[in-house]
Amino acid sequence: MATPRKLVLASNNPGKLREFQQLLGERWQLIAQSALGVEPAAETGNTFLANALLKARHASAATGLPALADDSGIEVDALHGAPGVWSARYAGAEASDAANNARLLAELAGVPDGQRTARYRCCLVVVRDAGDPAPLVAEGVWEGRIARACAGSGGFGYDPLFIDPASGKCVAAMEPAEKNRRSHRQAALRRLQALLTNKD
Ligand code: IMP
Repeated sequence: MATPRKLVLASNNPGKLREFQQLLGERWQLIAQSALGVEPAAETGNTFLANALLKARHASAATGLPALADDSGIEVDALHGAPGVWSARYAGAEASDAANNARLLAELAGVPDGQRTARYRCCLVVVRDAGDPAPLVAEGVWEGRIARACAGSGGFGYDPLFIDPASGKCVAAMEPAEKNRRSHRQAALRRLQALLTNKD
């Protein structure tokens, strides 16, 4: 088998590293930027694309390697798309997943089931080097709805509250493989893999 190619992941989230490596397979050796001593970039963009792009360029500039970055989050219709790019910081900078979930539940208090629609969105960017003028960009979404209480212990982030309508399960109660098959990251990665293959 060919030697796997190194790709720096511009994230320090162990949940994402695990999911991306499972989804990318053995062709790529994914290395967390923290393992190479890279500090996270400030996420100053107002869109998922802007944030993914600045994170990928930052990781590539610091390491001299190609870099993969994602920016993702949850958009809740009853909240006009919030928390969106602020998903990780919804209950404040450095907020825990539990605090973010508690704020989401509080914001949706009194909102009936039929109006609790939401989606996970993931934007992926690959740059071959920091100045890459034509980054690869792929997006994926996962439509669902927000439960009235947290359930399950798997996954991360908003998974205890996000219900997948196809199975009726909350994502935190899914096996990792089942989540990977259905997730916004998987959808975005499938598109990214097609783009990477076309560039070979
Ligand atoms: P990012 O690291 O800036 O992309 O922030 C993403 C945030 O969105 C995470 O911290 C989670 O709060 C949320 N998020 C993104 N993807 C998922 C997922 O698959 N499950 C649960 N929460 C997610």
